[in-house]
Amino acid sequence: MKFYVEPDLCISCGACISICPEVFSWNDDDGKAKAIDGNVPDDLVDSATEAMESCPTEAIKKED
Ligand code: SF4
Repeated sequence: MKFYVEPDLCISCGACISICPEVFSWNDDDGKAKAIDGNVPDDLVDSATEAMESCPTEAIKKED
């Protein structure tokens, strides 16, 4: 399971990083959130999904 942030939709609220800092962090290049590259470990998928569902602009997507 991979997660990614669409930078154009991210408003830099920080919610995803607060909920799941193991997966989401700031992209220093543009000040938007980003997800880790590659597959999210199974034990973090629930937390990352909660972060995705908490995003106010639905900027976070996931794919198998
Ligand atoms: Fe950006 Fe959404 Fe994360 Fe807020 S919750 S920082 S809008 S990706």
